[in-house]
Amino acid sequence: MLRAALPVAALSCFAVLAGCASAGHGHHAAEHAEPAKPPVTPDEQKFIDFIKDFRAEAIRAGIRGETYDKAVDGIHINDRIKTLNGNQPEHVRQVWDYLSGAVSDWRVGRGQQMLSDNAALFRSVERKYGVPKEFVAAIWGLESAYGRDQGSFNIFEALATLAYDGPRTTYAREQFIAALKIMEREKMKPSQMTSSWAGAIGHTQFVPTTFLAHGVDGDGDGKVDLWNSPADALASAANYLKQSGWKSGEPWGMEVSLPEGFAYEDCDVDTQKPMSEWAARGVRTATGEPIPSSDAMAAIFLPAGYKGPAFLVRNNFRMILTYNASTSYALAVSLLADRMRGTGDIVTPWPRNELALEKDQRVQLQSGLNALGFDVGEPDGVLGRKTRAALRAFQKQHHLPADGFPTRAMLDRVVKAREHATAGGG
Ligand code: CA
Repeated sequence: MLRAALPVAALSCFAVLAGCASAGHGHHAAEHAEPAKPPVTPDEQKFIDFIKDFRAEAIRAGIRGETYDKAVDGIHINDRIKTLNGNQPEHVRQVWDYLSGAVSDWRVGRGQQMLSDNAALFRSVERKYGVPKEFVAAIWGLESAYGRDQGSFNIFEALATLAYDGPRTTYAREQFIAALKIMEREKMKPSQMTSSWAGAIGHTQFVPTTFLAHGVDGDGDGKVDLWNSPADALASAANYLKQSGWKSGEPWGMEVSLPEGFAYEDCDVDTQKPMSEWAARGVRTATGEPIPSSDAMAAIFLPAGYKGPAFLVRNNFRMILTYNASTSYALAVSLLADRMRGTGDIVTPWPRNELALEKDQRVQLQSGLNALGFDVGEPDGVLGRKTRAALRAFQKQHHLPADGFPTRAMLDRVVKAREHATAGGG
């Protein structure tokens, strides 16, 4: 789920001001000439045209015209969302900094409190869907801080702003239609349908298509209400994981230790091998005990490169990735769930002296790899799978540990190699 826990007060202020202005206008209309309206900017006109045009698409998707008109009544381009949508962060947090916020003592303690306050609910969700209650609680804690930060944008304004222009139009158009379907199916008023800036809904931040496909009525009142019913939201999250392929009774994985000279190029969440093979290659628990030598598939994940902790991750870790594709998020859910059970402390220290690459450095790394023949695609400052694979290939060629982890030292190596290649005429 796309997540954005952002305090927003602008919408309600705007509505109040707009209401005052039109009341004032009505009162003085008999005495004064029509006051000059501020001119509609080209951007606003484009938005108004989009809202008009999209009506036909909504009707083709089975939405009633009346529903559409109510949903879009009074919505505007939301400048804040436009900014958030276009923003490419200058600074990206290192995984240990992200984890210290995501798996904070507050989140652990509050989660344990929620588990105890809602023991019957969590028990029934665990029994019905086979997902341990601590995982369901961890998702709740990370998605909305246990319901506190659900997002307070008008979902139709948010999705319309994203749908008419910018890098997420395809996503937002589909979600816009889905949100209209939710409004009809669950008989909601548009004002009740708040979301994050990206259109994620409620306690567990479901995007509308996921809401429609996997939302369930956990409290039995006949409605799926992910905004106001934690029972509905938690059952829906567990249902989603079960339908994705969660294996009841299996651990997500564990921290492990790797032997000297390990083939780091095989350490990737997508490189799955039987546990027995990892055991034969010398993978042990973080405290040096043998790992179970079974035919269950697992991958080795190095969130901070070969100098940091290593994790053996199994099927259920991958299921968390279907909820949110970020490996840091999946690790946070797993560790938070473990911490609620009183385990989950990491033995190996994080390489905290490694500084994150700033945006220009990330672009420099990518264009350097491209110039050296390791294809990363368009250098965009986002270090995804393709960049990591290219960096691994570079590291391998230079007989370095091929962990694909972007450090400043690695950036220097790439820059020097590029200079060398240029000086040598290719
Ligand atoms: Ca319900």
